[in-house]
Amino acid sequence: MDTTHQMKLVDMHCDTLGALLHAVMDREENPDAAKQTDALPTLLHNSFHIDLEKLQKSQYLLQNFAVFIFLREGENPLEQALHMIDLYYRELEANQTIVAPVYTWQDILENQKAGKLSAMLTLEEGGICKGDLSFLRILYRLGARMMTLTWNFPNEIGHPNNNMQTRLPHDDPAWAERMKIPDTEHGLTERGIEFLAEMERLGMIIDVSHLSDAGFYDVLAHTTKPFVASHSNARSVCPHVRNLTDDMIRKLAERGGVTGLNFCADFLTEVPFGTKNPGTIDAIVAHARHIADVGGVECLGLGTDYDGISTHEELPDASYMDRLIDALKTKGGFSERELDLILGQNVLRVYQEIL
Ligand SMILES: [Zn+2]
Repeated sequence: MDTTHQMKLVDMHCDTLGALLHAVMDREENPDAAKQTDALPTLLHNSFHIDLEKLQKSQYLLQNFAVFIFLREGENPLEQALHMIDLYYRELEANQTIVAPVYTWQDILENQKAGKLSAMLTLEEGGICKGDLSFLRILYRLGARMMTLTWNFPNEIGHPNNNMQTRLPHDDPAWAERMKIPDTEHGLTERGIEFLAEMERLGMIIDVSHLSDAGFYDVLAHTTKPFVASHSNARSVCPHVRNLTDDMIRKLAERGGVTGLNFCADFLTEVPFGTKNPGTIDAIVAHARHIADVGGVECLGLGTDYDGISTHEELPDASYMDRLIDALKTKGGFSERELDLILGQNVLRVYQEIL
């Protein structure tokens, strides 16, 4: 069987690098004798949502690997990011017969021809750049090809929708209601607008997931190329501020951008406060159907958020993607051609244009 033609899945977001780095750090901090006998998790094989074996099983073409940084006072986000980038390249070198990094559109095609998985380095927290355009350029040279302008903290670039500096604790009943109120006032800073221009000039993909509603419209007003929401669903289907409104979906689609279906249960379905949210394949299909109906099937992709979210009973890890594909076909009513677009071709269209 010729496997190169079957490789088709493209996922715009996962947090597997963070999971791997934490496992290494835990080992260093707890030199416990019993634990030492367990094999350290690797990119090739681990018990997380994503490893290379699982990606191969589901015939992935390309996986984005995010450098996620939780901004804490007194810590240097750039230094932390560099540790994670080092881990990324060490893992890719250890598995170079299976996977290779991509920097250009041509790299994706060549890896596919060679039957290798493609890995793309992305940044999840614009604060890694510390507001300095030279750091942005250096991170580009280190291979970063996509960046969320914010995570859930305000930074030098702009403001998030789900602001952790002001939000209520998870056990407060008002928390869920607050998760429905977007920030329509605080968008990008002056410096943030300079970042947009430099990202477009470099060929780094602008990612609006986590950004405030005001920030989304600032991106729209100050850019000309397609951009993405790497891991965001539809707010009309689940009223969480991490999801996009119908207007945003239309504007993103008109620009030629893509939003990636996120498997996080809280972004899929609203459940009564205090009840467990299972997250189901049907819910993912409902978001896919809605986004396609509102923005057209061309604005839809995958952004699983694997290893950044709790375990999903129906999609426990990346090796079970055939279940989602079946459901998109049978329950979502998507044709084979539409499935190819959703599973990878739409995202690849943006990569071809920007990279
Ligand atoms: Zn995220």
